[in-house]
Amino acid sequence: MRCARPSICVVSPRTTDTVNQGIVSLERLPVTTLKGVGPRLADKLAKLGLHSVQDLLFHLPSRYLDRTRVTPLGALQPNTSAVIEGEIRTCDITYGRRRSLVCRLQDGTGTVTLRFFHFSAAQKDGLVVGTRLRCFGEARRGASGLEFYHPEYESLDEQAPQPLEARLTPVYPATEGLTQPRLRTLAAQAVACLDHHPLAELLPETLRRQLHQVPLVDALRYLHAPPRNAQVDQLMAGEHPYQQRLAYEELLAHHLSLLLLRRQTQVEQAPQLSPDNKLEQRFLQQLPFQLTGAQQRVSAEIATDLAKRTPMLRLLQGDVGSGKTLVAALAALAAVGRGFQVAIMAPTEILAEQHRTNFGAWLEPLGIELGWLTGRLSAGRRRAELERLASGEAQVVVGTHALFQNEVVFANVGLIIIDEQHRFGVHQRLSLRQKGAQNGVCPHQLIMTATPIPRTLSMSAYADLDTSIIDELPPGRTPVTTVVISQDRRGQVVERVREACAQGRQTYWVCTLIEESETLTAQAAEATAQSLQEALPGLNIGLVHGRLKGKEKEAAMVAFKEGAIDLLVATTVIEVGVDVPNASLMIIENPERLGLAQLHQLRGRVGRGAQASHCVLLYGSPLSRQGRERLRVMRESNDGFVIAEEDLRLRGPGEVLGTRQTGDMQFKIADLLRDADLLLQVQQGAQLLLREHPIQCQHIVQRWLGENRRYLQV
Ligand code: ADP
Ligand code: MG
Repeated sequence: MRCARPSICVVSPRTTDTVNQGIVSLERLPVTTLKGVGPRLADKLAKLGLHSVQDLLFHLPSRYLDRTRVTPLGALQPNTSAVIEGEIRTCDITYGRRRSLVCRLQDGTGTVTLRFFHFSAAQKDGLVVGTRLRCFGEARRGASGLEFYHPEYESLDEQAPQPLEARLTPVYPATEGLTQPRLRTLAAQAVACLDHHPLAELLPETLRRQLHQVPLVDALRYLHAPPRNAQVDQLMAGEHPYQQRLAYEELLAHHLSLLLLRRQTQVEQAPQLSPDNKLEQRFLQQLPFQLTGAQQRVSAEIATDLAKRTPMLRLLQGDVGSGKTLVAALAALAAVGRGFQVAIMAPTEILAEQHRTNFGAWLEPLGIELGWLTGRLSAGRRRAELERLASGEAQVVVGTHALFQNEVVFANVGLIIIDEQHRFGVHQRLSLRQKGAQNGVCPHQLIMTATPIPRTLSMSAYADLDTSIIDELPPGRTPVTTVVISQDRRGQVVERVREACAQGRQTYWVCTLIEESETLTAQAAEATAQSLQEALPGLNIGLVHGRLKGKEKEAAMVAFKEGAIDLLVATTVIEVGVDVPNASLMIIENPERLGLAQLHQLRGRVGRGAQASHCVLLYGSPLSRQGRERLRVMRESNDGFVIAEEDLRLRGPGEVLGTRQTGDMQFKIADLLRDADLLLQVQQGAQLLLREHPIQCQHIVQRWLGENRRYLQV
């Protein structure tokens, strides 16, 4: 096969010597230059993001069919596709649950059934007993052993049998109206174009040799049509060296895009915020405890960044309860000490309130003015707060997303702190930064995650940030003991709550989200509170859920904190931040509905005081195998980093990172879990390229991220 319209397949006039032997415009060659591609087909291809011949080349098979060999019937495995050959022994219409044509096929090694639910009389007449057939399809376990439903078949000419396929048959990611045969011919045409137009090899020779990598073109040719002796298992798992070669380049492209983004921000000016030692001393003296070693180390890392002229971009990771807030407060102090404002943004109202309380208690005694901005303020209060921000009277402002609405104007914000709970992707991070920029001065940015992020994910999703890790809990914490109990034993659990509260231990009872509906969940929480009140008449029971007014929620939280409430029934709104050291028992209903990170975050609400704490995971049976596995992880580990890794393994990067970031992390070929061991090489390769081949970097990003790299443009 050749390029359909060779006249168009010419070397680009834009050829530069920066890219190996001359850039060829396969990326500029629209799919419509291929045979049989008109505007309608081009539209369908565009749905898959395929615009150019090069896009087709990089649209790789998601799996393969092996039609290169005949599998003896006796060696067939269920749920795999295979070519089989055999003689028809019987062929009858049966009337079981559904009328079907059933054909028994036999070879020297075994027997299988071919089953057709739709068939014509002519078809039945063609399947004569004694005829030899060759079929292709997927073997499934059926009523009579292994069965093939509607296989492809042809009768076999013993004298001159059709040759089998010489290569594995690719199966491409498809979309409606695009058939596999169509995609296969297009891919074959695209591969044929490589004969005339070598595709630019973007990885420098040194790097390729170091990584023992095959040339890109060889990998592409091979993967679109692997030979019959290829390692099928390896290919199906995405672990073939040629696939890994491409996965490496794709991961590299993503990594580079983040590093380039970061580089862009580093040409911006930031205020130099060297620490105000006096202020810091006064702050530390009023604390009832000493900083942990980890808090000191991390604070020093942040202080170094803040004192630079370029904007800090730092991710602060630490397990639940490791004391991130205090580190953030120290950073805030540096900004305030130099006359700059600080904006602290929390993902929820409750957490924002909590921060306001904490920061208020720490900073107001030092004479620092706090501001407060959420979506729920009255118009008058809001106007007043906005004025205090614009005038610079409010030095540290705490709030929710409302902080970054257009009408919010700061006098001079020098530091933005985001308690983000995995909610922001690269684009959001960038736009927050731009909002804070004024008169060419860009604020520093500190991002705190609510729970640790698995290393593989932070290496890729957060490559544009520096990372600080608090790897030590404050002293005197007793680890939470977790037990897993079925709803069938709810009565015993209620009894346990009674005993705990009788001993003066406060308890959380958490109701989990029902079908993404806050209303239903709130109703369930109300019902639970009521039934618990009936079962435990002696206790003061409070209720917090997302449908309550801010005031009501706050009142319940304050009452719980002051000990006026024994048992707090809540939805997962209390997930983050809430800090009541005397609470030492938590019941989580239907924990199987939540992700591990979220469970860990919830559980982190207890175990904050000196008392031994307990967490009861009250699951609804029956549990799925994965559900059981996840609860086991919770029972066995209290370490947020371990739990994050398990969460990644069990649920995949999309779930762990959250929707916003998943968009940033969509790969064509790479798989963060499978290819985790490539990441270190990717990091090193990216550094080398940035240093020595800066122009190549742009090309690599363009090739793999194409349109998605909008955020790279200044
Ligand atoms: P997280 O990292 O989960 O945000 P917080 O900042 O809310 O943790 O801190 C959890 C609790 O630990 C708070 O009550 C805080 O006052 C307390 N704390 C923080 N640092 C220390 C420390 N060095 N020693 C003792 N307690 C601390
Ligand atoms: Mg916190």
